[in-house]
Amino acid sequence: MLRIALPNKGRLADETRELFEDAGLGVRMAGPRALTASLGGEFEAIFVRAADIPELVADGAAQAGITGHDLCRESERPLEELLDLGFGRCRLVIAATDDSGITSLAELAAAGAPRVATMFPRTARRYFSDAGLEVELVPVSGATEVAPHLGIADIILDLTSTGSTLRTNGLREVETVLESSARLVTSADYRTRLAPAQLVALGELASALGSVLNARDKRYLMANVPRATLDDVRRIVPGLSGPTVVDVLGSDDKVAVHAVVPSAGIFRTIASLKCLGAEGILVTRIERLTP
Ligand code: AMP
Repeated sequence: MLRIALPNKGRLADETRELFEDAGLGVRMAGPRALTASLGGEFEAIFVRAADIPELVADGAAQAGITGHDLCRESERPLEELLDLGFGRCRLVIAATDDSGITSLAELAAAGAPRVATMFPRTARRYFSDAGLEVELVPVSGATEVAPHLGIADIILDLTSTGSTLRTNGLREVETVLESSARLVTSADYRTRLAPAQLVALGELASALGSVLNARDKRYLMANVPRATLDDVRRIVPGLSGPTVVDVLGSDDKVAVHAVVPSAGIFRTIASLKCLGAEGILVTRIERLTP
């Protein structure tokens, strides 16, 4: 049995569930309030807060988990990140009020020992100590961005993705401390800690999730092209290891070309193939891709 800790709610929950479903590990809940669920085969999910997942995985209560890189770093627990899942992207930034006039760390240093409101006290302590800056930490458990306006802090260390919440609250970014996204994590000593069957299951999990992520920004393209244009076609659709070329029954001068292509700019690929005389161009989504 491989127990995987998944976010029960919040920003990472929906995309995690979608990724698992796409990987053929759809959640089968025993009831709407169940805290655990079978994912099929030897996989079991437990649903917990994203912030608790680093601890649970490091302690061995779950053998793997999905959570933010920011939360892994803040936990300061020995974890290994096996996969960057690409969603839940955000940055941990230092921000100051617009009217403070602070736009850089150097100006911050000149302000004495500023008070820093944050939900990430360990990361903050590490960062400011590495930067040689003396600060006074003000740990908060939410709504960090109001702290300067309440007069309990001079600056904040908080997560942002678009920056709009910071702007709405009259704050401006001074420095990026950490870039984050959702990760598949396990304990740092998993190679010796897990039973052989669990190691195999963990490898299968990483490869199933990875194959779905690999496929997301790619498409499978098929087209019939004049045989004489194959050199040009190869330049337009290189594929993973060169396009697959298949004879077309009853046609000597045309061949079918199949290739995996990036989805970005696919309209340009199609236009270029058409210029070479391609016909019957078909583009489909790929469910999984294991190179
Ligand atoms: P939760 O508190 O359960 O909603 O999860 C918060 C986690 O979602 C954070 O620790 C980040 O890893 C991630 N996240 C992604 N974008 C943002 C954002 N704009 N603000 C806060 N958290 C974010």
